[in-house]
Amino acid sequence: MFGTSGIRGPVGETVTADLALAVGRAVASEGHERVVVGRDVRDSGIVLSDALTAGLRECGADVIDLGVEATPTVARAVGWLEADAGVVLTASHNPPADNGIKLWTRSGKAFGPSQREAITVRIDRDVFSLASWDGHGVSRRHDGARERHAEAIQAAVSLEDPPSVIVDLGNGAGRLTADVLTQLGCRVRTLNGQPDGSFPGRPSEPEAETLETLMATVAATDADLGIAHDGDADRMVAVDETGAFVPKDVLFALFAREAAGEGDRVAAPVDTSLSVDDALAHVGASLTKTPVGDVYVAEAATRDDVVFGGEPSGAWIWPEETLCPDGPLAAAKLVALVARRGPLSALVGSVETYPIRRESIEVEGKAELMDRVRESALERYADGDVDTLDGVRVEREDGWFLMRASGTQSLIRLTAEARSDEAVMAVLEEARGLFEATR
Ligand code: MG
Repeated sequence: MFGTSGIRGPVGETVTADLALAVGRAVASEGHERVVVGRDVRDSGIVLSDALTAGLRECGADVIDLGVEATPTVARAVGWLEADAGVVLTASHNPPADNGIKLWTRSGKAFGPSQREAITVRIDRDVFSLASWDGHGVSRRHDGARERHAEAIQAAVSLEDPPSVIVDLGNGAGRLTADVLTQLGCRVRTLNGQPDGSFPGRPSEPEAETLETLMATVAATDADLGIAHDGDADRMVAVDETGAFVPKDVLFALFAREAAGEGDRVAAPVDTSLSVDDALAHVGASLTKTPVGDVYVAEAATRDDVVFGGEPSGAWIWPEETLCPDGPLAAAKLVALVARRGPLSALVGSVETYPIRRESIEVEGKAELMDRVRESALERYADGDVDTLDGVRVEREDGWFLMRASGTQSLIRLTAEARSDEAVMAVLEEARGLFEATR
C-alpha cells in the first residue's frame, strides 16, 4: 500500500475516502493523540481530508487542520504545534487525477518502514481502537503555520543585496516561497501563482521540459534567477539568469559545497553524480550513500556528521532546520548563495560535470534477475567496488554504473557515469556485459 513516498494513485480507484478513513483510524490507533492535517491544492483533497479527519477523531485523536499548505509547512508544524504526527493529502508532482497520503513524524521525517507496516497491518486486518461515544477527538483550524515557517526561513538565511527572482509555483501550494523572498527584500514575480489542482499552467513535475515559460521569462527579463516547485513544494529546482535550467546534480553540488566543510558528510542516494563527489572533495568533505528516496536521505541526515542531504529529484535537506525536504527553504538558500557568490550561471560553470548514460531494459522477473546480477557482480569485482545498498552499484577506475529494478514497471534501469565520453561508453559496455551474463 505504501511506497517510500506514501500512498499515491488515481482518485476513485486506489485513493478513496474509504482508504483515508482507514488511514486516519490506523494512525490514531497507533497512539498518535494529536495530529496535524494539511493538503495540497487538489480539490479531491477536501473529501479525503474530511474522511481522514473522521477516522482520526473516531479513534480518539485531536486534529489540527492547516488546510492547503506546502508539504514542508505541514511536516514542520508537527513539532511546532507539539503534535505526535502529521498527514498531508498530496500526490506531489503527479497528474491532477491522482492524490495520495503521506505521514510525518514529529522530527520532520516521513514515517519509516516499520511505522508504515504497522498502519498497513491495521488496515488489512481491520484492527482499530474506536473510541466510545464520549471519547471522540476534536478538530480545530490553525492558520499560523505558514507565518511560522516564513519566520524559520528568515532566521536560517541572511541576505545582503537581495536578487530579483521569478518563482514558478506551477499552480501548486508553494505560495510561501514568493512571500518569504519578498520579506527578505527580493523583487519577486510569480508565474502560475494561482492555486489550481488541475495544474493548467504546466505539468506539476518541475523539469527542463516543463519549465519553458519560466526559462524564457527569466531570459527575457532582468531577473537574477528562476525558482520552480512541484505541486506540494517539497521539491525545488532553478533556472540561471540566462534562462538555462540548472541541472539538478549541479544544484546538488552547489548546495553540498556551501553546506559542508572539512570532515563533514553529505547524504546522497546511490545514483548521485560524480559532480557532487568532486565538489565535496574540494572542501574536504565526503558522501554518505543511501538507497534512492528522500526518506532514506532524511534517515542518514540524522547522523551527527551529516550537514546536508539531497536527492537529484530536487529534494534538499538541511538537518539543522528540518528533516523534511523543504522547497521554500531551498529557494531562500539558493537566493542567498546567488546574492553572496553569483551570478548563478558562473556558479553552475564552476561545477565539473561528466557524461552520464541511462538505459532501461525490459525484463520479466526483475527481482530474481537483480539477485543474479548482485551475485555475479560480487564474483566478478573486488568487494570494495560493489555496493548493494540499493540495486547494484559498481565503482570503476574512471566512473561507476548502477543497475536497479524499477519500482513500478517491469524494467531494469542502468545508469553509467564517467569522467570522459570514452570512459562512460566503456563503463556502459561493462554494465551491459554483466547484465547479459546473468540473463
Ligand atoms: Mg513533492
